[in-house]
Formats: sequence, C-alpha cells, structure tokens
Amino acid sequence: MSKLPCDIVRDLLPLYYDDVCSTATKEDIEAHIATCSGCKLMLEKLKMQEYLSLEIIEKNKIEGNGLKSIAAFWDRSKARAFAKGVLVAASIFSLLLLGYIGLTQWNIVTVPTEVIRITDISQLSDGKIAYHVKMTDGYNVNQIDYKVNSEGDVYMVPVRPLIKSKQNYQIGLANMYDFVNLEQIRANQGVEIRAVYYGSPKKPILIWKKGAELPVANDTVKALFQFD
Ligand SMILES: [Zn+2]
Repeated sequence: MSKLPCDIVRDLLPLYYDDVCSTATKEDIEAHIATCSGCKLMLEKLKMQEYLSLEIIEKNKIEGNGLKSIAAFWDRSKARAFAKGVLVAASIFSLLLLGYIGLTQWNIVTVPTEVIRITDISQLSDGKIAYHVKMTDGYNVNQIDYKVNSEGDVYMVPVRPLIKSKQNYQIGLANMYDFVNLEQIRANQGVEIRAVYYGSPKKPILIWKKGAELPVANDTVKALFQFD
C-alpha cells in the first residue's frame, strides 16, 4: 500500500491529471493507483469528464450559443437590412407613384389662351349662354375651374396636369359645346354678373358682358341645351 490515504490521493488527482504536482507527489499517486482500484477509477472518471467536456465545448463551437447567437445576429441584421430595403423601395415607389399621379392627375396648369378657340356664342331662350370651345393644341382639358370675383366677373379656366394627355375623342372638354348659366352663378355667388370670360384671368377671352346682345341659339345648340 502507498503511504498516501485514498482521500488525499483523490484530492490530488486533478493536479496529477493536469500534471502540475511535484515529481514526488506524482510518484506517490502513481504508486497508490497501481494498487488501489477505487482511486484508479476516479482517475478514469476524471479523464472521461475531461473528454466529455471537451466534446461539449467542440459541440458548442459548432452549434452552441456562441455561434448560434452570432448567426442569429447575422440573420437579424440581414432581416433588418432586408426590411429596411423593402421599406426604402416601397417609399421610393410610393413617391414615384405619387409623382406620376400628380403629374398626370393634378390639374395645376392653366391652358394657355393662345390655344383656346371660342366660337358660336349664342343665347338660349332661358338666358343661358352657349358657346363652342376647342383646344387647338390637340390636348385634353381635364377640368374647368370657375372663378367669380367681387366685381361680378366670371372666369371659366380650363386646367390640365403637367403631363397633358392627347385628345382621344372628338368630344370632351377640349372640343365641345358648353353653356354658362348666369342666373345660377348669380344665385350661388350672390353677385350681379358683369362679364363672362373663358381662359386664364390674366389673358381671358370675353364671352359676354353686361348689355351685350347675343345671337339666338341655332337648332344644334338648342338641341343640346334647351329642354323646353
Ligand atoms: Zn486509493
């Protein structure tokens, strides 16, 4: 039997296993283990534990928390970057779409007086004033804005978007007979009508002014606007 008792050998086994004990201690432990199966088993267990823990560390290195969290971080960053990209793309798309809609739908451009041709001004039996309007540039008119000032001047202002569209049909706001109902405007605006103009107030075309005598509407115009 060795001179070392088992409990001291077992306390020393980790040091022995790590090879950090003195040569004398090492020799004593080896001498003890050679004859003590219990302490030998403890040493084997120690080796096995070391092996297992090494294996666990290796495993952790591959799929363990460390790499997992790095991978997760990358995934999260990628997901975040992707989401950001989608968001940016969506924003740009919205802006482009809005811009396109704006350019093609918002009626912010007044049709220049130079391309407006007013003909066939006449009066219907109920007092409405009829006229024919045609845009000679071949583009559509999208809307007519009515402006009435306190003086009683009525302006019918044809407007279109920045990106104007070609006239696809032979009729429409850009080529049609239309009428203006002075009685109605008077009632709506509460002002005596002094004159009626077509086009930009800066350079309007006079259609009618107070006291002016207009020719009586012909049958074509009557057929369009006179229902009595
Ligand atoms: Zn022992």
